[in-house]
Amino acid sequence: MPDRRIVVTRIPPGDVMHRLESVADVWLWEENRAIPRDLLLERCADATGLYCMLSERIDESFLASAPHLTVVSQMAVGVDNIDLDACTARGIPVGHTPDVLTETTADLAFGLLIAGARRFREASDLVRSDAWTQWEPDMLLGHDVHGSTLGIVGLGRIGTAVARRAAGFAMDVVYTQRTRDRRAEQELGCSHLPLDGVLRSADHIVVVCALTPETAGLIDDGAFARMKPSATLINVARGPIVETDALVRALTTGAIAAAALDVTDPEPLRADHPLLQLPNCLVLPHIGSASVTARADMARLAAENLLAAMDGMRMPHCANPAVYGG
Ligand code: NAP
Repeated sequence: MPDRRIVVTRIPPGDVMHRLESVADVWLWEENRAIPRDLLLERCADATGLYCMLSERIDESFLASAPHLTVVSQMAVGVDNIDLDACTARGIPVGHTPDVLTETTADLAFGLLIAGARRFREASDLVRSDAWTQWEPDMLLGHDVHGSTLGIVGLGRIGTAVARRAAGFAMDVVYTQRTRDRRAEQELGCSHLPLDGVLRSADHIVVVCALTPETAGLIDDGAFARMKPSATLINVARGPIVETDALVRALTTGAIAAAALDVTDPEPLRADHPLLQLPNCLVLPHIGSASVTARADMARLAAENLLAAMDGMRMPHCANPAVYGG
């Protein structure tokens, strides 16, 4: 067996460790927190493979300190924490885990949509604080989800799965992204608009595009000014796509009605953060893919990507296919 040394940065679900240990020397960070950067660099100094999470920053300085690395495999679909160009330049394929978390994350996005628009957080707080004294005709009125227009920023795998759910709620769907998806337009009746058109016409907006230099800060003061005051903003993509200070302003001034977030900037959010003082903001701790089945499948897929690359084969799911010449 060739010399294989794998670093695993968190305990993966299922029997993944067993599989990896049967073919390589494996070092595992076993603590229930992200591995400290210094230790990651130290441990990867002679590693040939890395099995990592989105909490690790895989950049030039990391790669420079891991000269023997031949593969990076991440247990997530988003790879914004990884410098893909730097990996490609070194001939390192980067694995990720699309598809297996698509429906699970879309379920959460739709749950957040309903929870935000119908004010679940305020309603739950009211009951828990013992302030629920009677039924009132105008208590906690929200905005309808059914029959409304849903705006999707990023009609990729998860965005399309959200659009399919919207059909069951008799919603019109408008979307924005760089390329038109004519198949989704035909099959789901979605309409492609520039971002401005989506912001102005949607009753509710789900952000589910990739985080890139182009999408960082995409939803800013100007974007909120174009949204409807009755709108709920849902973010299940990555926190930095929405400017946090602008969101706080929008929720405080009534530029939009509510926000429901699975991801924030920063993460984690501390309890004294301004967003958490706002009754119209629901925040979850980045649990989009957190179902038993999805996480087990992600762990397995990340192992398959890693082992394929170590065997000199093309990864099943490579985030930088340019490394194979296209
Ligand atoms: P995907 O299929 O690659 O979809 C990403 C979409 O983003 C593409 O359709 C892409 O379309 C669009 N996009 C890229 N740049 C854009 C831009 N400048 N403006 C508008 N749209 C743009 O990925 P996916 O599997 O659906 O996942 C999407 C993202 O969700 C991931 O990158 C990840 O960050 C996040 N995620 C979060 C969780 C969670 O736990 N909350 C779970 C899974 C995934 P174009 O290329 O045509 O622009």
